[in-house]
Amino acid sequence: MTSKGILFVMSGASGVGKGSIHKAVLSQVEDIRLSVSATTRPQRPGEVDGQDYYFISPMDFEERIKNNEFLEYARVYSQMYGTLKSEVVETLHSGYDVLLEIDIQGARQVREKMPQGVFIFIQPPSLEALVERIHGRGLDSQQSIQDRLDACHAEMSMARYYDYVIVNDRLEEAIYKVQAIITAERCRVKYY
Ligand code: 5GP
Repeated sequence: MTSKGILFVMSGASGVGKGSIHKAVLSQVEDIRLSVSATTRPQRPGEVDGQDYYFISPMDFEERIKNNEFLEYARVYSQMYGTLKSEVVETLHSGYDVLLEIDIQGARQVREKMPQGVFIFIQPPSLEALVERIHGRGLDSQQSIQDRLDACHAEMSMARYYDYVIVNDRLEEAIYKVQAIITAERCRVKYY
């Protein structure tokens, strides 16, 4: 796959603050677009279909897998999530950078298909901090919280497969670091 824009892939354990970081980055950095993912999970209060996610049925999701519409997809905590090729390819071709905010299994698939992407791993300062954050947002059931924490143990060792690691200790600093990475990548001689 060739492209003009740069693909940035931000990943890390659930609850690590990826969502807050990507929202801030999108509002502060020009010429970058979020790839809106498709998911089978129920819409949460305040979420907008087509903006936060495309909320689709499991049957629709299966159909799109068969039609080869996904760049990557994964089951995350018993729901399906996937990046639509249409969200990424056309945007990159039109010269905009694209930001993906996806789980670690998905990031691995994207790395195989688009190794020219820039892969950023967001890490919690500690497991205790992550527990507090997931409880604090009050969005998840007890089982779902336990699933997320179990996955996190394994996920925290994945940083070495990425180009950059950011410890999300202070949100403002993490946002600044992602912006700095985007700025530096755009200055690479190969894009000159
Ligand atoms: P949430 O349900 O809290 O919005 O997201 C749960 C997890 O799914 C997060 O770790 C998020 O990064 C991940 N996720 C969101 N969209 C995608 C996607 O398109 N593909 C993959 N593989 N993971 C995704």
